[in-house]
Amino acid sequence: MKPPPFAYKKARSLEEAVALLGEHQDARLLAGGQSLIATLNMRLSAPSLLIDINGIGGLDCISHKGGMVEIGALVRHAHAERSDAIAKHTPLIARAMPHIGHAAIRNRGTLGGSIAFADPAAELPACLMALDGEVDATGPKGIRTIKAADFFKGLFETALGPQDLLTAIRVPAANKNSRTGFAEVARRHGDYAIVGLAASARADGKGLSDVRLSFFGVGTTAARAKKAEAALESGNVDAAVAALDLDPQDDVQATGAVKKHLAGVLLRRVAKQLMDKPL
Ligand SMILES: Cc1cc2nc3c(=O)[nH]c(=O)nc-3n(C[C@H](O)[C@H](O)[C@H](O)COP(=O)(O)OP(=O)(O)OC[C@H]3O[C@@H](n4cnc5c(N)ncnc54)[C@H](O)[C@@H]3O)c2cc1C
Repeated sequence: MKPPPFAYKKARSLEEAVALLGEHQDARLLAGGQSLIATLNMRLSAPSLLIDINGIGGLDCISHKGGMVEIGALVRHAHAERSDAIAKHTPLIARAMPHIGHAAIRNRGTLGGSIAFADPAAELPACLMALDGEVDATGPKGIRTIKAADFFKGLFETALGPQDLLTAIRVPAANKNSRTGFAEVARRHGDYAIVGLAASARADGKGLSDVRLSFFGVGTTAARAKKAEAALESGNVDAAVAALDLDPQDDVQATGAVKKHLAGVLLRRVAKQLMDKPL
């Protein structure tokens, strides 16, 4: 399939991209193109203009400052996958990265594109929720920061406005008490997950506290399972599985009942990672 015709402009600054979005109501931003071009080819979207943001400087850096890790929107998956700073300071993202598509997709796809696209079966939105992270949105009135819990609004729907670019992703840097866990089930490695789980917690000497279980592939957005989190904090994995407060619907990959069962299997695996392994 070929995409419908579109015009193309390469923005050289954030201001130019914001202005172009204001002038062209049905324009789309082009980052890595790994999701957007597929939707064009399948004729799910027919924008009149693609605004290429790859020429905007300063959005492709990873930095660690003030106890936070900041990842520019244009950081490619492959860059994050190989980054020492990501491995050391955000081990959950490091664990998730190899599960995103295949090497060719990770060479072009960006972290900003993945978060902005908000696919409910994608790894990174769930990681952002598990880490209680935040994003910067840059629009006509400047930059605003949005917490992950307020960012994902629905199926492929976020808090970004029509003239906003997602410019940065920030997560708290891990410390010696941080624990993370990640697991997913996919038909083939690199496929979108049938169900997945990204988790973080704090080891407090006796057990785990601040457990955050963020499931993906179970609804219209990544979803926390708060009753299961409370049960895991009391150290009872069986109770956490029994308390799993998820209600996945059937989709093309599996029935809701199968997804719920798999969520329990993943919870047991991830609980072990949280309890056994430092970071
Ligand atoms: C075969 C295949 C398998 C894949 N498997 C997985 C997988 O297992 N897990 C997974 O998570 N992903 C998967 N992907 C998607 C991949 O991770 C994409 O790279 C990612 O979802 C989008 O990033 P991108 O930079 O390519 O964005 P693009 O495709 O360029 O853009 C995607 C959408 O986000 C918008 N956008 C992009 N950047 C910004 C920004 N900075 N601010 C605001 N809006 C923006 C675009 O306008 C567009 O609507 C797969 C893709 C393919 C083709």
